[in-house]
Amino acid sequence: MFGPLTVKPGASKKNKTGSWRTESKPKFLQKNCIACKMCVLICPEACITGSEKNTYICDYAYCKGCGNCVAICPKQDIIMVKEDTSQEKK
Ligand code: SF4
Ligand code: SF4
Repeated sequence: MFGPLTVKPGASKKNKTGSWRTESKPKFLQKNCIACKMCVLICPEACITGSEKNTYICDYAYCKGCGNCVAICPKQDIIMVKEDTSQEKK
C-alpha cells in the first residue's frame, strides 16, 4: 500500500521550499503587531519567528508564499508583495 501522504508541519526544514515560492512573498511590516503568534501557528513551514511586538519575521529560504500568515494576522501587519525576480530569491 501507499505510505503516509502527509508529513508533520515544518518537515520542509530539510527541504528549502523557498526555492519554488509563488510569485509573492509576505512582508512583515512590524508596525501594529501585537505578538499574538497567530502567524507562527498557521505557517505550514514553521518558518516564522519572533517574540516581542513588531519583531516577527519569516525565513524566506523556507517560505513558500502561501499567504496564510497574511490572512490570519488580526492587525493586517503582514502584506504580500511581488517577488523581486531581478535577483536571486532571498
Ligand atoms: S506565506 Fe506566511 S504562512 Fe505561508 S509559508 Fe510563507 S511565512 Fe509561512
Ligand atoms: S499574526 Fe500579526 S499581530 Fe500576530 S504575531 Fe503575527 S504579525 Fe504580529
